[in-house]
Amino acid sequence: MKVAPNTVVSIEYVLRVEGEGIVDSTPEGEKVLLLYGEGHVLPPGLEDSLAGRETGSFRIALADGAGAYDPKKVFAAKREDFPDDAKVKVGDEFYFEDDNGEPVTARIIFADGDDVTLDANLELAGKTLEYEGIIHDVREATEEEIKHGHVHGEGGVEH
Ligand code: ZN
Repeated sequence: MKVAPNTVVSIEYVLRVEGEGIVDSTPEGEKVLLLYGEGHVLPPGLEDSLAGRETGSFRIALADGAGAYDPKKVFAAKREDFPDDAKVKVGDEFYFEDDNGEPVTARIIFADGDDVTLDANLELAGKTLEYEGIIHDVREATEEEIKHGHVHGEGGVEH
C-alpha cells in the first residue's frame, strides 16, 4: 500500500543537516504514527515527500527544506529596544511583531554595546535537510479516524 491521504503511516526517521549532524529524530526505538495529509506530526517537507512511497527505508534530501535564506530578514536594532532586564547576547531569541503585526521570532547574531543585529530566518533556512528513515507500515485509515483527523488504537489516540 502506498502512502497517500487517508492512510495511517508508521515511521521513524533522523534528520541530518550539512555540517551539523543529526538535528532531529523520532525518539530512539519508537515509531511515529500519523494520519497522512493532516500535518502537525511530521515536518511538512518530509510529509509531502513521502507521498507514493511504500514500506521500507528511505532517504530524502530537501534543498532549502526549511525555506530559503532571506537576507532581508536580517535587521538591526538597538539595545534600548529590548527589555531592560534582558541579557542581550548572541544566540538568544526574541519575539517581535513585524510591520503587519505578525509575530516573528528573531535570533541575535551580533551584539556589541548599543548595536544589535537580529536574524528572523529559521535556523535551518537555506540548508539541505537530509531525512533518512523507515516506513514501517501503511494502512488504510478507518472512517472514524478520517472524521477525527487522527490515528486511533495503539500509538494513537485512545478514546
Ligand atoms: Zn478520535
